[in-house]
Amino acid sequence: MQYETVIGLEVHVQMDTQSKAFCGCSTLFGQPANTQTCPVCLGLPGVLPVLNEKFLQYAIKVALALNCKVSNYLKFDRKHYYYPDLPKNYQISQYDMPLAEHGYLEIETENSTAKKIRVLRAHMEEDAGKLIHTSQSSLVDYNRTGMCLLEIVTEPDISSAHEAYDYLTRLKSILEYLEVSDCDMEKGSLRCDANISLRPVGETKLGVKTELKNMNSFKGVRDALEYEVIRQEKALNAGELIVQETRLWDENKQKTFTMRTKEEAHDYRYFPEPDLPPFTIEDKTIETVRKELPELPAVKKERLVSEYKITEYDANVISADKYIALYFEEAAKEYKSPKTIANWLMGDIMNYIHNNQLESKKLAEILPVKYLIEMLELIDNNTISGKIAKKILPDMFTSGNTATQIITEKNLVQISDTSQIETIVDEVIQEHASVAEDFRNGTDKALMFLVGQVMKKTRGKANPQIVNDILRKKLGTT
Ligand code: ADP
Ligand code: MG
Ligand code: ZN
Repeated sequence: MQYETVIGLEVHVQMDTQSKAFCGCSTLFGQPANTQTCPVCLGLPGVLPVLNEKFLQYAIKVALALNCKVSNYLKFDRKHYYYPDLPKNYQISQYDMPLAEHGYLEIETENSTAKKIRVLRAHMEEDAGKLIHTSQSSLVDYNRTGMCLLEIVTEPDISSAHEAYDYLTRLKSILEYLEVSDCDMEKGSLRCDANISLRPVGETKLGVKTELKNMNSFKGVRDALEYEVIRQEKALNAGELIVQETRLWDENKQKTFTMRTKEEAHDYRYFPEPDLPPFTIEDKTIETVRKELPELPAVKKERLVSEYKITEYDANVISADKYIALYFEEAAKEYKSPKTIANWLMGDIMNYIHNNQLESKKLAEILPVKYLIEMLELIDNNTISGKIAKKILPDMFTSGNTATQIITEKNLVQISDTSQIETIVDEVIQEHASVAEDFRNGTDKALMFLVGQVMKKTRGKANPQIVNDILRKKLGTT
């Protein structure tokens, strides 16, 4: 039977506020265990939570950027469960009246068509602590307890692992533009649970889903979903029933395995949080936040296309990263060919950043825009070849020197002096007389070989265009 895949994602984003959701404790990452706690986030008797205003502002920002309707009524609920990382034995969350609903995020499918993934809801809640398991014992760190989380839940509109990956990438991009989270999956500031079911093609009823947890990268989410599609398909084809359950992704084995059968909402005994009375979010508060929204990636992409005449594809890649986009615009304003900037950014520069695990945020610091432009101008005025430029770029990153400094130091200035090149060309023709003859007799690729020889003798410094011209002239084909 032919099945189609149905996926819904639940993403928890840790909001990058300075203090926790309902107390004044610091949210600094990586501090000694249990040093950032207080009676409120430890849930000691008699304490009262107070909502962090920044948390609300950030949450509204995200909700608006995801095209949600923001509620005018803010209400919190208690979600009860017993677990050692949860000192109060309940989590302050939102149940029946989330902060925001009915949004969407536009993604791109495998065949590059745009598709809207509906956002069912986005609600505010507090984080739990962290358990650290050693071979002898389990330890608990409450530093994370009470941190600000926004949970963003999609409708089951996602149809493949690829689409899920694209959704996450675009969501992260938006969150980075908004400067509300560092979105670091490894640090746990972005976590994703993926719900997945299959159904026969043409069926409208949803199939039984499993919920996948424990992926610590977007690639992990994609791999886990790909694995789960095949596992469910096999089971269904064998006539087995899919059990509604939570499964964990094992990164090493590249498999999902059963963790627990799924709890239901009524297991949590939700009730309204009595210590945080509901209040009204005025329209004008929402509109103030809306006005402060930055230009978001989708809009920026279109503008880059129309303003700088780069391709949709290039604009898509560049606008996906806020810092790359900033860098691009700064450079494109100062340099005649935005397309050239785009090529360098998307090629050697992003590769370098990626391969050396640098943050794109740091790019402008490591390679100042004016250094890149200077390098491009050296190519334009034939001081260096593009090839040499590619070679010295990593040096520019590591040394912090300009292209001019590096080529002078390493004696890499391009040879454009024709008489000097002519001498070398003569040598090469002499040394490879038969190849030269082949070229005269019409074997075009023989020229490539001769150009290569000249470049070798000059250690890549000869201007390839001039070498080409001189060779053709001397071999009598121009
Ligand atoms: P739960 O209470 O189990 O967390 P929800 O109904 O709140 O379930 O949905 C959680 C996520 O699972 C949502 O993103 C939703 O779109 C998705 N989802 C719900 N049913 C299915 C299904 N049958 N197949 C795939 N995803 C689903
Ligand atoms: Mg769930
Ligand atoms: Zn605290």
